[in-house]
Amino acid sequence: MTELQFHTGLCWAVIGLGAIVFVSLFFVVAPYGRHTRGGWGFTIPSKLGWVMMEGLGVVGFAICFSFGAHATELVPMALCTLWLVHYVHRSFIFPLRMKSGTKPMPLSVALMAIVFNGINAYLNSRWISQLGEYPLTWLTDPRFIIGVVLFAVGMGINIHSDNILFSLRKPGEQGYKIPYGGGYRWVTSPNYLGELLEWSGWALATWSLPGLTFLIFTFANLAPRALSHHKWYRATFPEYPKTRRAVLPFVL
Ligand code: NDP
Repeated sequence: MTELQFHTGLCWAVIGLGAIVFVSLFFVVAPYGRHTRGGWGFTIPSKLGWVMMEGLGVVGFAICFSFGAHATELVPMALCTLWLVHYVHRSFIFPLRMKSGTKPMPLSVALMAIVFNGINAYLNSRWISQLGEYPLTWLTDPRFIIGVVLFAVGMGINIHSDNILFSLRKPGEQGYKIPYGGGYRWVTSPNYLGELLEWSGWALATWSLPGLTFLIFTFANLAPRALSHHKWYRATFPEYPKTRRAVLPFVL
């Protein structure tokens, strides 16, 4: 079996897993954050969990990328930069900015995410630095340009929305409040909407099966969770804005 065959097969396996995850999350809400509950074993501080889960997106990706034959070419390096900007933020800056009232995370959840992030880092880094072909002309291709713009807009929405959540808790506070402003005018989870836009942009800019695989898995993971958050807010706050949707403005 060639690496390309292995890589393609792994992408399809992750898409299949995404379908299972999507259905399962309507029955079992992932037990972290406001949905934390007993019965999931040993827990660790959330900040540590995020560094452990997402760190592979930086270290694993960078190592794997550097071994590729195209690692010193301009377009692969530009795509690598996009990826690392996201993952350095998610692994090291986002956890530092989380408020101390944040709930602990089951180690089992962190371990599942580590396995996924390791596979995902391999699939995407190997594609852009070894298995895919990105000539210099790709820089002026509309798919690359629109993809990069979508990625940047999505990351901006994601960070801005998380900032609004972080601002809700005063030092020492632990509870939840209704967020207002920014993307919260339209949806309950604009941070997830931003994340989905980012990986739509990545799928477009890389025009690749691994890029599409990651987008599908992200949707499978975040859409049911956004619906769970939405249901939770409506059940918890009778005054919760009625016109707000869960994650896709005016749609879902
Ligand atoms: P949440 O929106 O559930 O929580 C984000 C942070 O804000 C947590 O620290 C949370 O505290 C706090 N918070 C949330 N709501 C409130 C509120 N109403 N009042 C006060 N504080 C609040 O996001 P997640 O933790 O699920 O995800 C965090 C980031 O990671 C997001 O940007 C998301 O897009 C990204 N992510 C990406 C995934 C992917 O597949 N690519 C998968 C999962 C997340 P607490 O922990 O105490 O609830």
